[in-house]
Amino acid sequence: MKIYNTLSKKKEEFVPLEEGKVKMYVCGPTVYNLIHIGNARPMICFDTARRYLEYKGYEVNYVSNFTDVDDKIIKKAIEEGVSAEEISQRYIAECKKDMEGMNIKPATTHPLATQEIDGMIEMIKTLIDKGYAYDVNGTVYYRTRKFEGYGKLSKKNIDDLEAGHRDIKVAGEDEKEDPLDFVLWKPKKEGEPYWESPWSQGRPGWHIECSVMSKKYLADEIDIHAGGEDLIFPHHENEIAQSEAANGVPFAKYWMHNAFLNIDNKKMSKSLGNFFTVRDISKEYDLQVLRFFMLSAHYRNPINFSHDLMESAKNGLDRIVTAVSNLSHLIDNAKEAEMTDEEKKRLESVKDIYVKFEAAMDDDFNTADAIAAVFELVKFANSNSSGENTKEYLTALKEKLTTLTDILGLVTEKEEEMLDEEIDDLIAQRQQARKEKNFARADEIRDLLLAKGIILEDTREGVRWKRA
Ligand code: AMP
Ligand code: ZN
Repeated sequence: MKIYNTLSKKKEEFVPLEEGKVKMYVCGPTVYNLIHIGNARPMICFDTARRYLEYKGYEVNYVSNFTDVDDKIIKKAIEEGVSAEEISQRYIAECKKDMEGMNIKPATTHPLATQEIDGMIEMIKTLIDKGYAYDVNGTVYYRTRKFEGYGKLSKKNIDDLEAGHRDIKVAGEDEKEDPLDFVLWKPKKEGEPYWESPWSQGRPGWHIECSVMSKKYLADEIDIHAGGEDLIFPHHENEIAQSEAANGVPFAKYWMHNAFLNIDNKKMSKSLGNFFTVRDISKEYDLQVLRFFMLSAHYRNPINFSHDLMESAKNGLDRIVTAVSNLSHLIDNAKEAEMTDEEKKRLESVKDIYVKFEAAMDDDFNTADAIAAVFELVKFANSNSSGENTKEYLTALKEKLTTLTDILGLVTEKEEEMLDEEIDDLIAQRQQARKEKNFARADEIRDLLLAKGIILEDTREGVRWKRA
């Protein structure tokens, strides 16, 4: 399989550092607000890449951080008169709700910057010891020119950068040896959260957190590092400079970047009034539609968001969901019999569709073409299933379809909610079992209800239940 590597600007064969394993790091959001639909793009695209790698048999260690210390978080905390921690905790919880709605698998680890300060101090110390960083009055800067490969990801020439920076005197940073140097540690300002360090009471710069978390939860050298294309410079360029200087090995083998999402062909921005959070969209659409919409384009192409395109995404997803539900209905009513030879032959022909799906995904995760293959399978299923078919065949056919939709992370079947009467009936059965001292049965019923999201509470007035 091939992955486009921003570092080489080419599609390269994917060969993991360790056989059968993938170490993958995706830069996560800064949590000071509800996430917007632009933030949702890397989440959905790289979650899909992960799912496909898992389908191919790799064990994927997937790490994605939450940046929970940042100027924007502090600003919001001051506006609301609450702590920065309260703001970040609130928006991490909200972000996780949105992720669940979009069916994004939780990462293996979701580290928080504020919990990793010790590691950051350690890495900054190493950089100072190796001559890659220096302290001026409590601020630590990275000595950019000292890192030979600076600019290799963004293809920027260090002298051009210098020319661009020469006239800019960033307030309070004129003490830098070189305008190109960037902050690793900065002293606190009045009222800001801070940590003790050898240089000052202060907080880390943004770039250092990803270098440290990636090292701690994955390794010095990882397979894939990913994020939106705006992160190539300076964030990822600086991460490379920090990690490679500190660890002495290449940082990431493959760098993946998603292109931007625009609204009605314009950049999404609050000032233009064309800014949507994922939560806004969830009021009008199931978030599965948003996921389907994102995957209908290749992740490296810009994608345009509009009402019309969301409507067509909704129709597209409906076609798939309907096909799955028709198959389920047929299965419920099908005859219990072994698959016939004719059915076996039909199922064999699905192989060609799988070949197309995998070829698309093997080609740098081309989800647009992969969806075309899913539609081919939908069409095939619609015209090759009926009440005459055996249960075994229909079940296998449905499984063929849902395997592909699972790789794309599209939920095609919703668990049916239990009706109130069904719950009351099971509770009565459980009471009866208890009376008969059949505790095994009573527990079984409680677990069954729990699996359906029903929580039981034994009170003095009897059993109460609520939905989780
Ligand atoms: P931030 O919270 O701004 O650091 O963004 C979190 C992630 O969302 C980063 O990977 C960004 O590159 C990505 N991102 C932000 N805006 C957009 C957009 N309009 N389209 C696609 N990705 C975006
Ligand atoms: Zn990062």
